[in-house]
Amino acid sequence: MASVQHCDLAIAGGGLAGALIALALAEKRPDLDVRIIEGADTIGGNHAWSFFGADIAQGERWLIERLVVHAWPGYSIAFPRAVRQLPQPYYTIESTRLDAIVRQTLAPERLTFGATIEEVTPTTILLANGDRVTATGIIDARGPGDLTRTMDLGWQKFVGRDYRLEAAHGLANPIVMDATVEQIDGYRFVYALPFGVKRMFVEDTYYSDTPDLDVKAVGQRVAAYAAARGWQPKRKLREETGVLPITIGGDFESYWRSTGAGVAKAGMRAGLFQPTTGYSLPDAVRLAIAIAAERDLSGAHLATFTHDYAAAAWRSQRFYRMLNAMLFRAARPEERWRVIERFYGLGPNLIRRFYAGRSTFPDKARILTGKPPVPVGRAIKVLKETSWRA
Ligand SMILES: Cc1cc2nc3c(=O)[nH]c(=O)nc-3n(C[C@H](O)[C@H](O)[C@H](O)COP(=O)(O)OP(=O)(O)OC[C@H]3O[C@@H](n4cnc5c(N)ncnc54)[C@H](O)[C@@H]3O)c2cc1C
Repeated sequence: MASVQHCDLAIAGGGLAGALIALALAEKRPDLDVRIIEGADTIGGNHAWSFFGADIAQGERWLIERLVVHAWPGYSIAFPRAVRQLPQPYYTIESTRLDAIVRQTLAPERLTFGATIEEVTPTTILLANGDRVTATGIIDARGPGDLTRTMDLGWQKFVGRDYRLEAAHGLANPIVMDATVEQIDGYRFVYALPFGVKRMFVEDTYYSDTPDLDVKAVGQRVAAYAAARGWQPKRKLREETGVLPITIGGDFESYWRSTGAGVAKAGMRAGLFQPTTGYSLPDAVRLAIAIAAERDLSGAHLATFTHDYAAAAWRSQRFYRMLNAMLFRAARPEERWRVIERFYGLGPNLIRRFYAGRSTFPDKARILTGKPPVPVGRAIKVLKETSWRA
């Protein structure tokens, strides 16, 4: 017989955004019965989420401090004409840690695993097996909505492998972009995170016009890169793949409606991600803290609150969409690396604010002035033809 559970707040999808909301509410509103309904058997799937120190404000760190598994004081980038060390802390959260912390924080009866959600309304979650969860408020955090039909996109796609190595690699800090590799399928770079003395995470990444990912071929390039660096794998501990949206333009309201107009949303489902990287962790932290500060957690209020929050974020990201239009539409695919190389020649504070999505007016002016790495005529045409302003 179908069962019904009732609670104060139910979160559909125990991924990054859903888990962070549950943890923020456990801290700020311990009186509430908050539940997570997740399709898989774990919280957070198979992920490593990384972020720069400046992405998270001092007052927001309490939410993720205990989730951080790896921390470094700086990182480097490498381009054909420049190698640079940047003194900006870098951190990684692993999904196994997020899973463990959520299980420590929420009592077992508040976590439902292996449950396929069929429908979400502002106050109900209907499961495929006929079970129901009713709540004062529901937040839908089940990952992306209909991105392709509502937005104009480029893609960041990658295959990453976490290797246990035969010998110590000797790399102290992450290489966030090694763009000295052969340029294939757009802008290509390798990302390397030293997770331990004999452990290295290597990811081969493409800023591509298409979302197709040849996992086998890219996996082989990961292995070839590791071999070329002298990092001999003993064992592959984990592999992850990703195809993330890079927004050039689109219609935010259509995107929001693609997963139901009157329902509260979080994470990728709310369109909350950095437009130039597709990364969503900093936005997920901010939204979780903002929700935990709301007194009214009814479905109707949360729907309006999360919609208005995400719509304001979308409006504030026009500059990034315009740069993405330049990168994907004005620069030829094999020349895209020049745009990024030029960007990394700018000041470290400007770079820090850029990734945090907090570029100032002088930052924007600085990014746009100087010798353009794309043909001016082409740039003007692209600016006219794409919907980055929307
Ligand atoms: C491999 C990879 C690496 C990434 N690395 C980074 C990074 O380093 N830094 C960063 O900021 N961003 C990163 N991102 C981008 C982004 O932050 C992640 O995709 C992030 O997990 C998105 O969070 P989310 O909560 O919106 O969605 P998810 O974390 O994907 O969570 C959605 C959850 O909903 C569940 N679900 C979906 N449908 C149903 C259903 N019908 N019934 C029940 N449950 C359902 C899923 O099982 C999942 O657990 C990465 C993405 C990928 C794919």
